[in-house]
Amino acid sequence: MKPALMRYEAPETVEGAVALLAGASGEARVLAGGTDLLVQMRADVVDPALIVDIKRIAETRRVTEERGGWRIGAAVTGAELKEHPRLKQEWPGVVEAANLIGSTQIQGRATLGGNLCNGSPAADSVPALVAAGAVATLAGPQGRRDLAVEDVMLAPRTLALRKGEIVLSFVLPPRPPRSSDAYLRFIPRTEMDIAVVGAGVSLTVDEAGTITAARVSLGAVAPRVLLVPEAAEAIVGSRLDRAAQDRLEAAARAACRPIDDKRGTTEFRIEVAGVLARRAALIALDRARTR
Ligand SMILES: Cc1cc2nc3c(=O)[nH]c(=O)nc-3n(C[C@H](O)[C@H](O)[C@H](O)COP(=O)(O)OP(=O)(O)OC[C@H]3O[C@@H](n4cnc5c(N)ncnc54)[C@H](O)[C@@H]3O)c2cc1C
Repeated sequence: MKPALMRYEAPETVEGAVALLAGASGEARVLAGGTDLLVQMRADVVDPALIVDIKRIAETRRVTEERGGWRIGAAVTGAELKEHPRLKQEWPGVVEAANLIGSTQIQGRATLGGNLCNGSPAADSVPALVAAGAVATLAGPQGRRDLAVEDVMLAPRTLALRKGEIVLSFVLPPRPPRSSDAYLRFIPRTEMDIAVVGAGVSLTVDEAGTITAARVSLGAVAPRVLLVPEAAEAIVGSRLDRAAQDRLEAAARAACRPIDDKRGTTEFRIEVAGVLARRAALIALDRARTR
């Protein structure tokens, strides 16, 4: 039997990419950095008949200021984010999360869009984006729509994207003064591993150092990345004293519904989620105070 041919396309417009994906009869995949997709193809996990490389579409490759916030193209890499001083200053948590992905080589390829659309609850940049209140702009046959990042991935390998839709970019909202964020993960070794637990915190403080707004997210402790409003409520109105930290830890732990595997038992993941949420909040607070 003749092996099936795979078609590779690299359109230069959003409309072109969407038309290709929408019109595909067999399995079609977007290609960004390829650090997940190519590995999965080599392992015969996926066997797409059509690959649509989105890196030639200018909109997916730029970082621009927009209405006081930032728009980051879905195919911007972690390495590119790291070299953007102003973005790094405003959203250190988002940038540090993207830069935990793999090694230097991987970071030169791996994109925010690919990290989200690979559909892993342990993806490192996703909790940071969720804590940031980031919104994904999707493009599809019916046009464009915006979706909160926490609503894009529904379960492992299951996305809210419709046939023909791609993630085009992410919007980070405007930053009030004295705001910052942080992302921490636990892995069994120092690098090149998948998060056993991840925690993202973004917050704003007033002049007296009291937290006026916060968002807390957790990765790898449920089938999808969690936004945990109870954890945010636990620290808003406080200066993150010990009592507020304890409330934050308890709320973060209460939200966890983790798997139990050789990389971390259920009990361990729940325990670590509380610790990381607290530590990430302390780092975000420290950064916010000095901005
Ligand atoms: C050695 C190694 C180490 C790694 N370490 C980490 C780590 O520490 N933390 C971590 O989170 N991940 C890690 N990864 C996984 C991977 O690098 C990341 O998930 C990366 O961000 C994927 O981005 P990409 O651009 O390479 O995605 P791709 O491989 O190009 O795509 C991934 C999936 O998303 C889809 N997709 C991509 N972009 C879009 C889009 N814009 N719209 C719709 N669908 C899209 C693709 O079709 C595919 O199904 C590692 C991978 C390797 C090989």
